[in-house]
Amino acid sequence: MAASQPRLFGTNGVRFVPGVSHDLDFAISLAEAIGTYFGTGEVLLGRDGRLSGPALANAAASGLLSSGRDVAEAGLVPTPALQYAVKALGYRGGVMVTASHNPPQYNGLKVSGPDGVEVPRLDEQRIEKIYFEKSQTKADWKTIGVARQEASVVRTYQKGVLSRVDAKAIAARKFTVVMDLGNGAQSVAAPYIVESLGCKVITLNSTVDGNFPGRGPEPTPDTLKDLSAAVKAVGADLGVAYDGDGDRSIFCDEDGRILWGDQSGCLVADFVLDRHQGGTLVTSVASSQAVEAVAKKHGAKVLRTKVGAVEIARTIIERNAVFGFEENGGCLYQPHIAVRDGGMTTALMLECLARKGMSLSKVLSFVVPKYFQAKTKVEVGPKRVDAVMRAVEKQAEGEVEKVDGLKAWTDAHSWVLVRPSGTEPIVRIFAESDSQEGADQLVKRFAKVAKSASV
Ligand code: MG
Repeated sequence: MAASQPRLFGTNGVRFVPGVSHDLDFAISLAEAIGTYFGTGEVLLGRDGRLSGPALANAAASGLLSSGRDVAEAGLVPTPALQYAVKALGYRGGVMVTASHNPPQYNGLKVSGPDGVEVPRLDEQRIEKIYFEKSQTKADWKTIGVARQEASVVRTYQKGVLSRVDAKAIAARKFTVVMDLGNGAQSVAAPYIVESLGCKVITLNSTVDGNFPGRGPEPTPDTLKDLSAAVKAVGADLGVAYDGDGDRSIFCDEDGRILWGDQSGCLVADFVLDRHQGGTLVTSVASSQAVEAVAKKHGAKVLRTKVGAVEIARTIIERNAVFGFEENGGCLYQPHIAVRDGGMTTALMLECLARKGMSLSKVLSFVVPKYFQAKTKVEVGPKRVDAVMRAVEKQAEGEVEKVDGLKAWTDAHSWVLVRPSGTEPIVRIFAESDSQEGADQLVKRFAKVAKSASV
């Protein structure tokens, strides 16, 4: 495979702006390439709630059918529901029409293998090769695929999630949960899961709407002020918010404080490791050192990957790990399926709280050591990324890791990570320390070095 082959896939699937950066013909040709890559069998196709979703899902269906694949159309479903159903119902693979947390104008295609997990990076390149060489299979009138509806995806997913937790233990606590669906695809699944677990559910932004009028498709502390206020106003035990396609979940404690994904990920990891009596945890180089402290308690091993859910998922499978998470709120529970899943994570969080018998803020303070983080980004001129990374390396002292970008430990509890973005002309700088001042200073220092080498 030529190294210079252009890329279509980004960190998580193929993303574009329909009708602006690419027209629907692109989606048809790409889906033909995906169908050709699958080679045989029936593909499960779903979409999130974006405005261009129906048009793109139809284009993707056309491409898959024209390559000779049969297609089962799931309609509007969360991404993790489609992925779980691929595995549970035995499809050849899955195609999800989604742009996850991106702004409303974006959409894209995400491809899962028969295990429901995003296909490996090398297989993305195989699909790209078929697309660029125009070597798609073109079925004739006799071998063209057959389409049908698949109505059981959400039900299958809900059953799968519920089978992995102790519903009785959760129901006994009679939790009140505020759920901010963000007008996204979990609106059709997650509230019913939480209700089935005996919780009182209050929803915000629960109408699926591709304009994302509520708080936008990305749950961040800035966009979740209504969730915090609602949790406090009704005296809820917990708040939870999802991104546009429902694979990421961000939690809010009973005081309305938004937890970043590192904290909730470590908390759920602690619960999972306790249940499975240790095991292996997978997370990227960008997440908190708190994970090592949590793992140590259970005699568990931590594997650090490049940033990106696909890397984490594939490492979980290769190394038979039990759990993985990203600092943005994506958690992967392998016994269910090794994909990020907002619904599964919510159910695990509820069981964790039920078992501990304490409020979320209290459990967190006992289980997850407190570290402080800071981040920024620096614009980098054309062809200056290497120079910036060289300057950063010169500045770094102590232990240096190069799993993804450059991570330097400046003392036992302080690190800085400088990583070129895969999609924009910037480098991202993250730091963590045992004080906010320490983290801020590290970011400031390395941003200065990066800036001076950036033009
Ligand atoms: Mg997502």
